[in-house]
Amino acid sequence: MPVAVYLHLPFCRRLCPFCDFFKKVPRQGDLAKISKLLLSELSATLVRERSFASGPLISVYFGGGTPSLHPPEQIERLLNAVSQVGDVHSVEVTLEANPGTLSFDALSQLRQAGINRLSLGCQSFSDRKLHLLYRDHTANETRETVKNARMAGFTNISMDLIFGLPGESEDEWRNDIDMLLACKPDHVSLYNLEYHEKTPYGRWLTQGVLEPLAEDFEAELYLLTHDTLEREGYEHYEVSNFARDGFRSVHNQVYWEGKPYLGIGPSAHSFDGVARRFANVADLHDYERRVTAGESPVEREWLNSEREQWEEWISVRLRRKEGIDWADCHDTWGGMRARGLWAAATALPVHLREVTESVFRLSPEGWFVENEVLVNLYEKV
Ligand code: SF4
Repeated sequence: MPVAVYLHLPFCRRLCPFCDFFKKVPRQGDLAKISKLLLSELSATLVRERSFASGPLISVYFGGGTPSLHPPEQIERLLNAVSQVGDVHSVEVTLEANPGTLSFDALSQLRQAGINRLSLGCQSFSDRKLHLLYRDHTANETRETVKNARMAGFTNISMDLIFGLPGESEDEWRNDIDMLLACKPDHVSLYNLEYHEKTPYGRWLTQGVLEPLAEDFEAELYLLTHDTLEREGYEHYEVSNFARDGFRSVHNQVYWEGKPYLGIGPSAHSFDGVARRFANVADLHDYERRVTAGESPVEREWLNSEREQWEEWISVRLRRKEGIDWADCHDTWGGMRARGLWAAATALPVHLREVTESVFRLSPEGWFVENEVLVNLYEKV
């Protein structure tokens, strides 16, 4: 079956206090060790999970953590190992990178190894915001990395920006967008700062150390970004993602379209494209122990109930600009459910959605309050 492969490389130079991904600061030898463990896990998994091994391959994604901390040779070995699933040289292969972690030579090596898309975690061009986020790079390093990546032959560069930090003004955010546009990325991922419970930011919020922005103002910044980037030729094709023509993220669309993906590495998740999901252990020692002993690192495996599948089917489609197609909904879930969904959609405030006979989609205003919209819909469908 067609499958996307995700490889989780969990090490970061320092830990950003807002981040809730599984990550660690590496000790001597950790980078080489984890890349070998991922190689072992991948080979063993492709034997154990035969349906994921037959391909064709849809895309490859090196996420983390900060995969760009790894020497290019380690990334190349991992990518070559993914060739067991399908031809890595004919699909989108993304590497997440942080500014200041890759020299021109390293970028050239990665490009030659088959990485053809760079996802750059620049987050902001404001010194104040970079400091507040505990980032260990500067705006100049971001510009330098983009310039070097272009010279090294990268024709597909995505950049991440984060908004909604305490004390953020409209001018500060406008400046971030202007600086981003000056870098001419092909794709932009936009993040609204979240205060995850188990992160330092979550604790600082509870303790009153951080004062969040008003939600209305965050919505203004989100809509400002939508208007500005669309005007500059970027299609707002998903809640948090913008792309120039032809540069939508293939890998992320796998998640949004409910296609199968195989996750390798500590904490990585996998999905068979129907109902079965499994998740690797999110603990480095346990991960190492299991993989070294030839055991599966899968800690949890579950089947989504029919109800969960229905809710997920709705939520992933509403994330996308295309929304939900009536015929698709009717054919997949039957007339009663389709009619119920359309009735619930029509009852939503008009500025949040567009509903016609053939399509139901959210407006940018609707996207900003997507979670509330979904809760409302789930109660009715
Ligand atoms: S560099 Fe990225 S993955 Fe690492 S802690 Fe910061 S946000 Fe999280």
